[in-house]
Amino acid sequence: MTALHAKTAPLADADLLVKRDQSRLIHPHLPGDTTDRIVMVEGSGCRLRDAHGREYLDATGGLMLAHVGHGRRELIEAAAGQMAKLEYYSSFHEFSNEPSIRLADRLIGLAPPPMERVYFTSGGAEAVDAALRMARLYHHRRGERDRTWVLARSLGYHGVSYGGAAATGMPMFHQGFGPMLPHVRHLTPPMPFHPEMYGGEDPTEFCLRELRETIEDIGAENIAVMIGEPILGVAGVVEPPGDYWPRVRELLASHGILLILDEVITAYGRTGHWFAAERLGVTPDFIVTAKGLTSGYFPMGALLVAGQVVDVVTRDEGFVGGYTYSGHATGCAVALENLAILERENLLAAATRVGDRLGERLRRLEELPVVGQVRQTGLMIGVELAQDPATGEPLPADRVPPLVRERAGVIVRNNPNTVLISPPLVMSDDEADRVADAVTEVLTEFATRRRSGPSAAPARELPVLDQP
Ligand code: PLP
Repeated sequence: MTALHAKTAPLADADLLVKRDQSRLIHPHLPGDTTDRIVMVEGSGCRLRDAHGREYLDATGGLMLAHVGHGRRELIEAAAGQMAKLEYYSSFHEFSNEPSIRLADRLIGLAPPPMERVYFTSGGAEAVDAALRMARLYHHRRGERDRTWVLARSLGYHGVSYGGAAATGMPMFHQGFGPMLPHVRHLTPPMPFHPEMYGGEDPTEFCLRELRETIEDIGAENIAVMIGEPILGVAGVVEPPGDYWPRVRELLASHGILLILDEVITAYGRTGHWFAAERLGVTPDFIVTAKGLTSGYFPMGALLVAGQVVDVVTRDEGFVGGYTYSGHATGCAVALENLAILERENLLAAATRVGDRLGERLRRLEELPVVGQVRQTGLMIGVELAQDPATGEPLPADRVPPLVRERAGVIVRNNPNTVLISPPLVMSDDEADRVADAVTEVLTEFATRRRSGPSAAPARELPVLDQP
């Protein structure tokens, strides 16, 4: 890789930093006895450099968010310019600031029609919580006070605040943290690649039948809202069959149940659209966004709310509760410039083009016995590993990222059985090819070390989440 910042030497105290990290920091998802650390110090485009001077290609966009790439001078200037004028002021009560008004207006201009107003937060989980609270308040204020239940989905991810974690359909976020928020029921998401989950029934029909039965069981008069990712992200990049969301929406609406689409990963270009809702032809009551809103240059989320909900939750004493950093002036100025870059540089089209190129290369891996399915929507890609033909066990995807990094300096992620790739939308064709080469090399080696046989998807069992 050509040097990023050629003049920058490894930090003299790089080893000391690692030691301090080990003794001072709590990292999410890191076992306490793990000693490895990668201390990033510089970034430019899709390239990163660590404290030891090692260089990397960022094929995950950090946590799926560095849409415009690292080291963008325009964003640094937007932040500095706003800080020089007014860094922050509260947006509670009647107070406001110029960038937050301009950004809200811009977002509503980009969003699908029923979205009318914006509520700013510091990240995705806060925006999920705000949506859940608004959904319950909406029914409460309209006199339907028993509508408190939340429908979510197994394998869905909605962050680790208590509301977000309760809606998340992965047991590791519940175990040891309970009791979780009550009145949450998890349903089956459609995953056509795993027919064993549906007992021979068509996945969409199964999910719709289950939704109908759940509404009957809980009682529509007790249900406030359903939340789901339009395209499952962390669970392995799973786009549902085209009729799933429109039919879910129709069924919910016929029972007066609201719909939250969690677009924390999918919004602002990752799928080749400003919002995945457009791609999937569904009009929710809430769209939750974060990540790509600022490409990570400022921690920020934005909840977009449909007009009929706005009318109710802003009446009387208004929507009670806000976050200190809601509508942060500097964050909003950064977001405005970030959206301008996405538009100016045509990065939505780039997401589709580079995503298709990567997808086309990686889909060839389906010929390997270790690969079950390669799924791609825009610039989000999941390479699901197959069942080991020798043992029948799902192949461990967690062995892939360290190998890909060591061999080629390319950073990818994994969930239990899927390798996840979600680079900045500015990734070049050459860089995309390098990512494809690196993943191909490692998986081909995996395959040659194993006895070849017919590939099979690992049987997917849904986690048991909801206590009666
Ligand atoms: N919702 C989805 C779909 C996400 O992928 C995430 C984070 O990855 C969140 C919510 C939580 O966002 P945050 O970590 O900013 O709270």
